[in-house]
Amino acid sequence: VRVEDKLFQNRYLVDVGRPHITVRPHETPSPNLLALTRICPAKCYEQNDKGQVEITADGCMECGTCRVLCEPSGEIEWNYPRGGYGVLFKFG
Ligand code: SF4
Repeated sequence: VRVEDKLFQNRYLVDVGRPHITVRPHETPSPNLLALTRICPAKCYEQNDKGQVEITADGCMECGTCRVLCEPSGEIEWNYPRGGYGVLFKFG
């Protein structure tokens, strides 16, 4: 079974209007912030037409990669979703 097929089993309950990750406003992204557009496994991070990094956290798997890389510097704010929201993993 391919990992993509397994990931397709996950379910998400989006907390509309309350994203659990936000990107601090910036003119130019740092190398770490820019790296998130390549390393987030759910491809939540993208560059807009001005080159700034934006996030759409709806498909976030809460892996913590972006938290490790960019929260200590304050470039992103990362919180777990409220209870009941976020990803629901299906195993097996
Ligand atoms: Fe992507 Fe993981 Fe960060 Fe979620 S926690 S946005 S899946 S890198």
